[in-house]
Amino acid sequence: MTISVLDRTEVNAPSAAPSLGKLHDQAGRVNAELLPCRVNNPELWFAESPSDVEFAKALCQDCPVQALCLDGALDRREPWGVWGGELFLQGVVIPRKRPRGRPRKNPAAA
Ligand code: SF4
Repeated sequence: MTISVLDRTEVNAPSAAPSLGKLHDQAGRVNAELLPCRVNNPELWFAESPSDVEFAKALCQDCPVQALCLDGALDRREPWGVWGGELFLQGVVIPRKRPRGRPRKNPAAA
């Protein structure tokens, strides 16, 4: 039997730090068909194209483990990719992916 609603009391406990193992455990109890990154092309979550990244972020919004996924990614300081509906780069959330192109002339304005 699978569940579609997660019990976050364990996650919200002060001693329960988010972890990849915990996320894996929780995700394993959810019907995989409810996890957008499992039913869509997983490359979207690590895409080069800014529009694909925004699409992945939007898909995460309907994920039943979105909050847990984001907590875990923040805790692990994910180096890159979309996790919990946010884009990570070098361990921090950034608002959006910049398209490829020429670097700015004035790096101080970046
Ligand atoms: S919130 Fe996490 S588990 Fe859910 S679709 Fe996004 S990346 Fe996948």
